[in-house]
Amino acid sequence: MFMKNFLAFVMTVLPIMNLASVEVQTEQYCEAVKMKDKRILISGAGIAGFTLAYWLKQRGFSPTIIERCPYERVGGYKVDVRGTALEVARRMGIYQELLEANVNLVRSKFVSSDHKVFAFDGDILGLSSEGEIEVNRWNLVQILSKKIGEGEIIYGDSIIKIDEKMVYFEKMEPREFDIVIGADGQYSNVRRLAFGEDSKFLRKYGIQFCVFPIPNIFELERCEIVYFDKGKLATAYAIRNHSYACLAFKSEDETLPFGNLKAVFEKQFQGLDWEIPHLISLMQESNDCYFNSIAQVRMPRWSKGRVALIGDAAHSVQGMGTSLAMVGAYILAREIEKSNGDHALAFDKYEKTMKEYVEVAQALAEANQQAFTESSVRMKFQLYLMKILPKKFTQYFIEKRRKQMKEVANGLILEPIPSCRLAAPERLTSRP
Ligand SMILES: Cc1cc2nc3c(=O)[nH]c(=O)nc-3n(C[C@H](O)[C@H](O)[C@H](O)COP(=O)(O)OP(=O)(O)OC[C@H]3O[C@@H](n4cnc5c(N)ncnc54)[C@H](O)[C@@H]3O)c2cc1C
Repeated sequence: MFMKNFLAFVMTVLPIMNLASVEVQTEQYCEAVKMKDKRILISGAGIAGFTLAYWLKQRGFSPTIIERCPYERVGGYKVDVRGTALEVARRMGIYQELLEANVNLVRSKFVSSDHKVFAFDGDILGLSSEGEIEVNRWNLVQILSKKIGEGEIIYGDSIIKIDEKMVYFEKMEPREFDIVIGADGQYSNVRRLAFGEDSKFLRKYGIQFCVFPIPNIFELERCEIVYFDKGKLATAYAIRNHSYACLAFKSEDETLPFGNLKAVFEKQFQGLDWEIPHLISLMQESNDCYFNSIAQVRMPRWSKGRVALIGDAAHSVQGMGTSLAMVGAYILAREIEKSNGDHALAFDKYEKTMKEYVEVAQALAEANQQAFTESSVRMKFQLYLMKILPKKFTQYFIEKRRKQMKEVANGLILEPIPSCRLAAPERLTSRP
């Protein structure tokens, strides 16, 4: 009886007593609803773009994605989800799926120019530590795109101009957007349009690479093979029914010429033996080659007006690009929501949160980069040391680098999230 009366009191009297505060809440609610009406355009349906779209949707927004490629762009080698990005994946409810897709290399084989093979336990090139996840890039793209569910994704178009109010496209009619996010990779189109030429921001290392799927010609399983000779690198790995190869060379030219990139790679690898001729012919036959060059994007600011950049577009970095893209997307969505319509504030907070984390990762990647690719002589010397030193010694140095990478990847702690914000377990489907 007491309980019944108490409930009646709560339901009738309390709302009257609280009228003033209800009004305030309604105002805030309206502000929040207005904010959720903000039209947000994301350029690029890659790791950063999909992750941002997911988190914006979770926070009640309805972003539009525009992707230059006419279809969902899969392809690529394995990529790492490390450190704080693992927490983002957990909060998205995709951790289990990622675990199932984990490439989890257990062995690495190095082949010297005289074809001697040196085998080591674990993933040496990827520097993956216990608990970190490496997945085929296509796997990650599919997991993310499936997760974002219904929404507007425009394939096969690209932004050509962004002015005060409108966004103009190659094919579509101009549309109004309140916020434009460049998640369109290392050579970001949005960055070029809003901030200027690539040369201002790209720190290039002159290493060109090409990734393509191959049949499992090396009969590998959860293993990566690495061949290095005359300044050229060939690697391949296989997991279950998927195998990929990567060819890389250092070139004095900072950028590859557009046009027939396959021919450029063929010429560069001419005269090398081992399985190189076979790999070259597989590359020539492949219709799924991904060409790129190793570079870092370094910018003083990642936003300008109503435009902001995330992922590789803002801060590409080797070995941690995917993880930083996921974390940055998560933080930006959080700040956009918290800012109550003030996107300048949101962008500012996003940059402040991410900047140091990114800079430390870029510094480490640059150091690792130099250690690995400085010169043929240095690489040969490293292989020679690996050959003559006890394996324990090599493992010790690799372990040290893994530890460093893990520390850096965990360098940003996310604030706790209310459990109602965690990913719902339902499976959502994305539009083709
Ligand atoms: C096909 C592919 C293969 C890759 N393979 C590797 C690899 O083997 N190893 C590796 O370390 N990294 C690879 N990467 C890069 C890696 O995915 C990123 O470094 C990292 O995951 C950060 O992701 P991101 O979303 O910032 O950029 P990305 O994953 O590069 O995604 C950018 C997206 O933007 C799209 N885009 C580009 N220009 C425009 C435009 N004008 N308008 C609209 N959309 C545009 C691209 O098609 C792409 O879908 C690959 C990227 C791609 C697109």
